[in-house]
Amino acid sequence: MAEANGWVLISTGEMLRDAFARKTPLGLEAARQMNQGLLVADDVMIGLVRERSGAPDAGQGFVLDGFPRTVPQADALDGMLGGRGQRVDAVVSLAADEEELVRRLSARRECPVCKRAYNLVSAPPKDGRTCDDHPGVELVRRADDAPETVKKRLAVYRAQTAPLIEYYRAGGRLLEVPGFGSMDEVFRTLSGALSRNGGMK
Ligand code: AMP
Repeated sequence: MAEANGWVLISTGEMLRDAFARKTPLGLEAARQMNQGLLVADDVMIGLVRERSGAPDAGQGFVLDGFPRTVPQADALDGMLGGRGQRVDAVVSLAADEEELVRRLSARRECPVCKRAYNLVSAPPKDGRTCDDHPGVELVRRADDAPETVKKRLAVYRAQTAPLIEYYRAGGRLLEVPGFGSMDEVFRTLSGALSRNGGMK
């Protein structure tokens, strides 16, 4: 969605995995929570997003992926955007049932070089094993996509993130989009919902 509209994509999980790969103190500390399926502390996440979203390339708008995940993060987001004359135009809830999520995550793989995402069932690489864009580079599974960790992540989602649905619905900013079906179908439904919302100007 970001690519199709020329928006900057800010993925907090990707930022943390990148910090871990560079062995920064923040990355090493965050990995301890991530590998257990737990959330990283709110103040750390808020600081990361404040800095990244304030960079010049994000001035024309951006997509946040994986943030906010708690009510304090959502409050902080409104505060930081308000201070810059920006606001959240839309919040998208992509819904899929837990069985389907577990199935997808256990088949999810990524290229360790370019981070391109694959799914061994629904979006496999051409040879079934290596990245289409990096011949010979074997795809890997994210450490936190192990089945036990996925269960923990879903429990954390229910306890700490699901309350955001009501939070944004009450503020009239929630777009609910079914997250099942093919990637193309979800993309089309989401594009339609965003343009009706006026978010794709
Ligand atoms: P994701 O790539 O969005 O699935 O995030 C992977 C992991 O990074 C999560 O399970 C958390 O441990 C951590 N993480 C990412 N975004 C956040 C956030 N907004 N708040 C707290 N932890 C986060």
